[in-house]
Amino acid sequence: TTFTALGLGDRIAYAVQQKGYENPTPIQAQAIPVVLAGKDVIGSAQTGTGKTAAFSLPILQRLGAHGPIRCLVLEPTRELALQVEESFKEYSKYTDLRTTVIYGGVGYGKQRDDLARGMDILVATPGRLLDFMEQGEIRLDHIETLVLDEVDRMLDMGFLPDVKRIVAKVPKTRQTLFFTATLPPEIEQLAAWALRDPFKISV
Ligand code: AMP
Repeated sequence: TTFTALGLGDRIAYAVQQKGYENPTPIQAQAIPVVLAGKDVIGSAQTGTGKTAAFSLPILQRLGAHGPIRCLVLEPTRELALQVEESFKEYSKYTDLRTTVIYGGVGYGKQRDDLARGMDILVATPGRLLDFMEQGEIRLDHIETLVLDEVDRMLDMGFLPDVKRIVAKVPKTRQTLFFTATLPPEIEQLAAWALRDPFKISV
C-alpha cells in the first residue's frame, strides 16, 4: 500500500516521499487510518519500527492549519524529544504547522522565547513541561491529541506521577495515542485510565 492510500494528503505524502520512504511499515499501515479516524491507540512497538511517523503523519494531516497548541507529545528523554521534534518538522515542511520542543537540563530562556512564538505541536519531557505549566506559560486547554511515547521508559525513570499530573490537565475530549514496548501492571492501569476504547496494535 502507499501513504496516500492510507489517507494522507499530498503535502504530507510529498514530505514522506522526499525522506525516501517507499512503503509504510507495518505499524504505519495499521496506525495511520485509525489515528486519522480520531480513535485512541495503544501500540506495543519498539523504536526502529517507524513508530514516530505512525503517529506524527496522521496528526499533522488532522491538524490542517496553524492555530493554538493542539498536540502534545511526551517523551522520556531529551534525545528522544529532539528526534521526535525533528521528525514533525520534516514531515510538516510543506504545511504551515509549527513544532516546538522543551526538555530539562538546560536554561529556560531559549525555550521560553520559542514558546512565545506559538506552536501547533509541543514535544516535551514531563518535568520541564510541568515547570512551564506551573509558571502559567503553557496551557493545555486546546490539546486535541495527546501522545504518550515510550511509556515503559517513563515508568523506569520515575516519571509516571508527573505524566499523570499532565494527563489530568488535558481536556477529556482528546484523542490519546499510547506507545510502550512492555505492559507491566502500572502501565496497564495508566492506559486504562488515560485511554477510551483504544485500538490495539502490536508489531
Ligand atoms: P522510529 O521507529 O520512528 O524511530 O523510526 C526508525 C527509522 O525508520 C527512522 O530513521 C525513520 O526515518 C525510518 N522510517 C520510518 N518510516 C519509514 C518507512 N516507511 N520507510 C523507510 N524508513 C522509514
